[in-house]
Formats: sequence, structure tokens, C-alpha cells
Amino acid sequence: MNPEEVHVLEKKLLVPTYQRPSPVFTHGEGVFLFDSEGNEYLDFAGGIAVLALGHSDPEWISAITDQANNLTHISNLFHTTPHVELAQRLVDHSFADRVFFSNSGTEANEAAFKFARKWGRTKGGPEKTDMIAFVNGFHGRTCGALSLTHKARYREPFQPLVPGVTFVPFNDQEAVRQALTSRTCAIVVEPIQGEGGVHPASKSFLQGLRSLCDENELLLILDEIQCGLGRTGTLWAHEAYGITPDIMTLAKPLAGGLPIGATLVTEEVSSVIEVGDHGCTFGAGPLVCRAAQVVFDRVSQPSFLNAVRSNSEYLLQALKSLPSQHILQIRSMGLLVGIEFDLPVKPLVQSALERGLIVISAGENVLRICPPLIINQDQLTQGVEILRECLPGLESQ
Ligand code: PLP
Repeated sequence: MNPEEVHVLEKKLLVPTYQRPSPVFTHGEGVFLFDSEGNEYLDFAGGIAVLALGHSDPEWISAITDQANNLTHISNLFHTTPHVELAQRLVDHSFADRVFFSNSGTEANEAAFKFARKWGRTKGGPEKTDMIAFVNGFHGRTCGALSLTHKARYREPFQPLVPGVTFVPFNDQEAVRQALTSRTCAIVVEPIQGEGGVHPASKSFLQGLRSLCDENELLLILDEIQCGLGRTGTLWAHEAYGITPDIMTLAKPLAGGLPIGATLVTEEVSSVIEVGDHGCTFGAGPLVCRAAQVVFDRVSQPSFLNAVRSNSEYLLQALKSLPSQHILQIRSMGLLVGIEFDLPVKPLVQSALERGLIVISAGENVLRICPPLIINQDQLTQGVEILRECLPGLESQ
């Protein structure tokens, strides 16, 4: 099929939830992608912060090939080994005592939502089911996760959503304190708001949320779906804040591009959950869990995390050298970077693509860079130089 045929059939056959640029991608290798016309692209988006190990990592391919030759799916009704081995890794390297596996970020948050509600009802009675979430926060698109997501464009067509969620300004602890009621059971927050424009939480804010949760017997739920698993240069984004949550959700990079979600919880949270309370046909399948073991073992290596930290510093310095006429601010933690412009970035995303660089936006005015974590400094320079070439075009808009 040539690209035009793909475009025509997509338009005809798919529910129109996405607007895609014209290349049709056929394969990837490391930090590079290739389209059906033989063009090469440097990938500064990593499948939206998913491909920590890049495209077609040989060790990852070998693990899933081996697993597919043995057992891909059997459902959660039966025992298998890979999910236990993955859960062991996650528990050994985090605050958590137990894990629930699903297939996506939104599902990981959906499980967190249900577990927190059940915990609230069990500890505080049937009224203790409300949650606090944040302005510009993004937690997914299913009805529970969407109820925690702030953006009106995503929410309004589907109302009524799940009741009991109050949105409070991000990085404003006093506003959270004022929004608490006897019905509140949990606070849900991204340590770095990703989709909302790459806004890191301040240290005092996350620490303040931890204290508010402790003082008021609430659960702190950290959504590390975009910022966790090495993206910020530590295994968990919350390490930089010196706190731990009661629930943490993971997804994007965990299985290296295969669908997975994980909801990590303390024993205290898990103790209220019984057989039958939640479930998932595909979650914790042997194939994805073998893939995730490979990813986890690599991204949790101190040398891997050191490289993310030094490469992120290198990238930041390189970005600061860009002519700043339209750049309002560069925000970053590790290899999650947002460049805020004083005008929409869509034309910049398009001209970068035409020059062989894949970047994405986070909202209208923020260019988001979240490359595979294996990227090296030459490749970072290459991408920044392409951005530099694109910037004069922005002037002429
Ligand atoms: N939470 C955060 C912080 C995210 O960035 C995303 C996706 O961008 C989600 C949840 C939803 O994840 P998924 O698209 O896998 O459902």
C-alpha cells in the first residue's frame, strides 16, 4: 500500500479520533524511525515517552520471541511466572508491597481510583470517596480516569462523569488544604504534569501533599505513567522529592512498547481489596511481563540512570543556545522537556518532521521532547540543530 492509499483507508475505516501527519512508518531502530518512502527520522518523541530502550532493542526482541514461542496469553484465571517476576522487581525497588497489572495508563489509574474509593469507604464510611486532582492534570480517557483529567475539551462531550472530584491549582498547597472535606479519600497528582505542558511539581508542594495526606488520613496517588521509570534520571520521579506515595501508577515505558499498566500499592491499600473487586483479561500476560522485565532491568541500572541525568543536562544546555525570540520558558526534569513558546507550536512540529525530526506538543504552545532514554549526545545535538533550522520559519507565521 502506498501512503496515499493508507491515508484514504484510514479516513474511511477508522473512527476519527486522531489527526496524523503524512509519513507512514514502517520500522525503527534505536532512536531512528523509517517511513515507507525510505526517509529516516530522529525520534525525539519515543512513542510519547514509551520507548525507553528505543525501537527494536535486540534483548527485548529476543525475550518476547522466546516467550511467544512458549506462552502468550492464558488470562488471569491461571498461574504463570513472568508477572510474579516483574512484580518482585517493582516491589523490591519501590515503596510498594503489591501490584495490580492492566493494559494502559488509563486502566492503571482506573484501578487506583477504585482501590482508593474502596479504601476510603472501608476506613471512613460510604461517604469517604471524593478525590482531589489538579488543574492541567492528565490521567487518561476512560470515565474514571477522565474524571480526574482536567481538560474541558476531553471531559465535556462525555459528561456526566464520575462525581466527587475537585480540581485545585497545581503547586498550590493552600488551595488543596481548603478543598479538603470529610469526604476526601485521596489526592491524585503527576509529579511532573506531562500532557498539561511539562510542569514539574515544586519540592515543597509534593512534600506538603504528603503531609496533608498523613494528617488527614488520605491516600497520596502519584501518576508516574509519563515521568516514572527513569525518565527524570531517577527510577521514580518522586525520589527527587524525598517522599513516597500510597499508590503509584505506571504504564508507558514499562513493557518497551507493548501495552501494560501497573498500579503499585502499599499493604494498607491492598488489605481492603478482595477477590472479585477488580479484574482484567489481558493484564499481567506472560508476553508483556517478559518484555517489561527486560525494560525494568535496564532502566533501573545506576549507569543507565546516570546517563539519563548527564544527557538531560547536555540537552538542556543545547536547548538554551536556541535563539529565544519566541521561547518563553524551558521546563524539564531529565529527558522530559517542555519548551513553551509565545505562539502555537504545530507549524514547528510539522517543519521538524519535514527535516527528519519527530517532536510532539503538550498543549498548544509547548513543544515536548521525550526521546528514547538510550539517546546519546551526538543524537541530541542532531535534533537540537534541526530545531534551530526550523525556528526562523516560526518568525514568518
Ligand atoms: N497518565 C499520564 C500522566 C499520562 O501521560 C497518560 C498518557 O499520556 C495517561 C495517564 C494515560 O495513559 P494511556 O494513554 O496509556 O491510557
